[in-house]
Amino acid sequence: MASASTSALVPTYARAPIAFERGEGAWLVADNGERYLDFGAGIAVNALGHAHPHLVEALTTQAQKIWHTSNLFQIPDGERLGRRLVDATFADVAFFANSGAEANEAAIKMARKYHAVGGHPERYRIVTFEGAFHGRTLATIAAGGQAKYIEGFGPKVDGFDQVPAGDFEALDAVIGPETAALMIEPIQGEGGVRAIDNDVLRRLRAICDERGLLLIFDEIQTGVGRTGKFFAHEWTGVAPDIMTVAKGIGGGFPLGVCLATTEAARGLTAGTHGTTFGGNPLAMAVGNAVIDVILADGFLEQVQRTGLLLKQRLAALVDRHPRVFTEIRGQGLMLGLKLNVLNTDFAAAARAQKLLVIPAGDNVVRLLPPLIITEDDVAQAVERLDAAASTLEAQVRGAA
Ligand SMILES: *Cc1c(COP(=O)(O)O)cnc(C)c1O
Repeated sequence: MASASTSALVPTYARAPIAFERGEGAWLVADNGERYLDFGAGIAVNALGHAHPHLVEALTTQAQKIWHTSNLFQIPDGERLGRRLVDATFADVAFFANSGAEANEAAIKMARKYHAVGGHPERYRIVTFEGAFHGRTLATIAAGGQAKYIEGFGPKVDGFDQVPAGDFEALDAVIGPETAALMIEPIQGEGGVRAIDNDVLRRLRAICDERGLLLIFDEIQTGVGRTGKFFAHEWTGVAPDIMTVAKGIGGGFPLGVCLATTEAARGLTAGTHGTTFGGNPLAMAVGNAVIDVILADGFLEQVQRTGLLLKQRLAALVDRHPRVFTEIRGQGLMLGLKLNVLNTDFAAAARAQKLLVIPAGDNVVRLLPPLIITEDDVAQAVERLDAAASTLEAQVRGAA
């Protein structure tokens, strides 16, 4: 029965009591007129901020032509976006999906099929790493390995083994004749902005090469300029065989992609995998528009400069409030503040200062601002973080 006072939505989210009506750049305006500085970007999604004119233009122009045709027909803008992604990365081919989890499902299926068509259907297991997050489908919760996401949803999907990142003894022990691939985020996002050492990634690459395994990078959060390179692994000199991308690539339009070498994708022939919505003309128009901006001359260098500035200002902030902050993590505009106070309390205190930040694992809050933020946005964010920290300190003192 309908009820006016309670939500008709399944309460899977503890939502903050704010609804945003519109946005411009790094700013959001709530339906009561309050303005918030958005350093969450819808969890690293609004890479170009809100209502970016180039994206609005691409979406509205496309909306008047054609929205959806299915993948039974040619989609020229999808061919174009695929070509541009391939030209700018290690990859040879792209598979478009609608979300991160679906991109990871494609990656998992691709890795299994690669071995199956190579005469080794028994090689289906994938090794993942503690603290990982790969999505919320049945297979990707099994890949992520977090009990709180797995429990109560029936038997855990078989085929995933997890070890601590950097524990090469454990890794060696778990890799067996059934192992197909290793899957890792170069910087764990939901896990608390925890960077995997370059040296660890290099060793994973070497192990994959020695043992005939595929290396999968989940760059759903780290990709599309977030760390100041097009993809985070470019900082490391290590390339994967398969990489998944979502969040930022649609700039707010649901879009995911699984990129791979021709070799890694060899099993996914006509009819073996599919999607109704993935790669539709609306999504492809927006994806191309996002890439226009991200890959324009100087854009990524600007992200690097802004990221450095923000990190420097945060370092001073951490020094000023040692009772609240313990350290800064991350790269570019994917930064984390590890806290002495509860991260959800800190996020609420920041929200009271009209600044949006995002809690993550390991008692961290993430700063994932739109990549287009200005020096002034950085200054305002740090001011608001400072004020939030001061309120929490006052509360701690008040309680003592
Ligand atoms: C967000 C995220 C996902 C899941 O993406 P969805 O679009 O929510 O399905 C997977 N992996 C990583 C690293 C992510 O940050």
